[in-house]
Amino acid sequence: MEYLTRILRKVAKEAEFKFHPRCQSLKRAHLCFADDLLLFCKGDYISAHLLLRGFKLFSNSSGLKANISKFAVYGAGMNSNTIDRLVDLSGFQKCSMPFQYLGMKICAKRISKADCVSLVDKMFCKELYKFVELICGKGVDWSCSPGHVSWSVTCRSKSEGGLGFRDIALWNFCAMSKHVWDISSKKDNLWVKWVNIIYIKQGDWWNHVAPVDAIWYWKQIVQVKDKLKTVFSHQEFHSFSFTIASLVSKLNIVAGRWQFAMIWDRFSYPKHRVIIWLALLDRLLTLDRIQRYKPLQSIACMLCGNAVECHSHPFFSCCVSSKILVEVLQWCNISYHGHDLKNLLKWIGKKKIRKAEGRFLSA
Ligand SMILES: [Zn+2]
Repeated sequence: MEYLTRILRKVAKEAEFKFHPRCQSLKRAHLCFADDLLLFCKGDYISAHLLLRGFKLFSNSSGLKANISKFAVYGAGMNSNTIDRLVDLSGFQKCSMPFQYLGMKICAKRISKADCVSLVDKMFCKELYKFVELICGKGVDWSCSPGHVSWSVTCRSKSEGGLGFRDIALWNFCAMSKHVWDISSKKDNLWVKWVNIIYIKQGDWWNHVAPVDAIWYWKQIVQVKDKLKTVFSHQEFHSFSFTIASLVSKLNIVAGRWQFAMIWDRFSYPKHRVIIWLALLDRLLTLDRIQRYKPLQSIACMLCGNAVECHSHPFFSCCVSSKILVEVLQWCNISYHGHDLKNLLKWIGKKKIRKAEGRFLSA
């Protein structure tokens, strides 16, 4: 391939050879991927002829022949006469866009929904979502069915209040952000050079606006960059040690999700974990909540009978449960005077850290 590259560079220097308009600045006439080769030049007979002649020289010297049945000529904005002459010259078949490459359609315009059907079938994301929604809830932020937590919440990691299902849309956004980061950090690859020459030119990437005639995927990447601007300054993004996973968790933290790590402590009972998880999300099936979709005779607390059983009642407000709490605390010799579940969990968290530090120091 090194030899082929040298030959094609020499071809490109010939006076009569003209580059494909999009490759002029990069002075590229070919791309190799595994054992695939793409050759491109301006759509005139002489340029194509020179390119094919270079390839023939490579074939004759190396003994590596092109598989004629797989080789194809694609022309854009060329007259059919020139294309026919090239087909005769090369012996390759004449094909037109789009074509299939590595399971994806390659075309000059935006890929349509129909073009992606085979890929979507393989990924079956939506069907997968539907399946999990059936088990976990209806996937809306507020559901009238009892106890359901929205799909977007279950998709958060356990430490952020979810059940750790992967949010594929968020994951996809972060995967696309990798391209934004590659450009920001001036990664040394051909694609970054290419978009710099074609789109960004000498401009400022962080404030770049996609040209109206830009290809659809470029507009998408610019949109991703603009969304990232609401979270990062350019300097922050540039110095962010980028991985897709680290960006996912960063965006989750920015979205104001609290630290739930403690709930999923392996020393607590699974049933208790789920109850505390629902309590922190205000999703416990208290009577005032059930009453919204099911008529009840009374919504008074079953322990004290003095107040409505609302979300804040059973843990600290109820005179019966708070009496139990006080006695348990005394029995365990623990001094705690807060009246809020979230603060209680924070307090337990700090105790745990101190205990771990104590163990470390005594060791
Ligand atoms: Zn009560």
